[in-house]
Amino acid sequence: MNPRLITNYHTHTVFCDGMAEPVCYADEAVRQGMASLGFSAHASVNFPTNWTINPARLGAYRNDIHRLKREYADSLDIYCGLEADYFPDIFEEVRALYSGYQWDYIIGSVHFTGVRPNGRRWCIDGPHEDFLEGWRELTDCDPLLPVRRYFEITREMVRVMKPDIIGHMDKIKIQYRPDCMVPDTHPFFREQVMATLEEIAASGCIVEVSTRGIQKAQTPDYFPGRWAVAEMQKMGIPVTVSSDAHTPATLVFGFSRAETMLRETGYRTVMMLKNGKWEERPI
Ligand SMILES: [Zn+2]
Ligand SMILES: [Zn+2]
Repeated sequence: MNPRLITNYHTHTVFCDGMAEPVCYADEAVRQGMASLGFSAHASVNFPTNWTINPARLGAYRNDIHRLKREYADSLDIYCGLEADYFPDIFEEVRALYSGYQWDYIIGSVHFTGVRPNGRRWCIDGPHEDFLEGWRELTDCDPLLPVRRYFEITREMVRVMKPDIIGHMDKIKIQYRPDCMVPDTHPFFREQVMATLEEIAASGCIVEVSTRGIQKAQTPDYFPGRWAVAEMQKMGIPVTVSSDAHTPATLVFGFSRAETMLRETGYRTVMMLKNGKWEERPI
C-alpha cells in the first residue's frame, strides 16, 4: 500500500466528540505519509446531544481547518467537511443550521430512527440500553422494524439530501442481539441493504468502507459488511476507506486489511479528493 495514496475523510476532533485538536490529526497524517485528510465534525442539530458541534462553533471549526489547509499545503491535502444526519421530519430546519457555510463534502449518516414519547430522538449509535428503550416504546418489540426504519431513512437521505458519501451504511447491526433484532445475515436485513444499495447506485453517491467496526471487539466487521461490499462492487458503487477516527492513533486503523478485502471483492479503485474533485485512484 503506497502511503502517498492513503486518504481518510471521516475524522472527529474536539470540535465534536473527538479526542484531539485538528492539528494533532494533521501531524499524524503527515507522519503516516497520507495524501489527504478530511475533517467531518458531527453537524449541528436543533436538540441537545453531547456529540454534535455547537452551531456557534461552526465558524471557528471552519476557520481552524482552513488555517491548517494553508499551513500544510506543501505536505498534505486537507479538506473541511461535515458528517450530517438526515431526519425525515426536521431535515430542512437542521440543515439551515450549517448550510450557511461552504463545506468541501458532506457525509450523510443515520444515527436516529424516530422520536420517543419523552421527545428525545431514538439513537441507534449509543448504548444498547438506550436503543432498547426506544425499541420497546416505538416498535412494540418488533425484531425487523429497527432495521426497516434505519434503511428507509437511509434511502430517503440518498434521495433528498444527496450527500457526497454515505457514512457507516449498515451501522444498525451493532444493536443486534438475538432477543431484540435480526442480524445482518437475516434475509430481511439483506433485502433492506440491497434496496438501499440500488438507491445509492442510481444516485452516484460514494459509500465509505469504515474500519470503525473492526476497532471494537463486539462487532468485528466493516461498515458495510464484506458481503455488502461484494454486492456494491457488482453494482459499480464507488468507495472510500475511512476509520471514523475519534483519535489520531486510529487515523489509518485497519486500512491495509480493508484494501485487501476490497481487492478480494473485485474493487480496483477507490475515490479520493484531488484539488477538491473526486477522482479514482488504483488500489
Ligand atoms: Zn456516525
Ligand atoms: Zn463519524
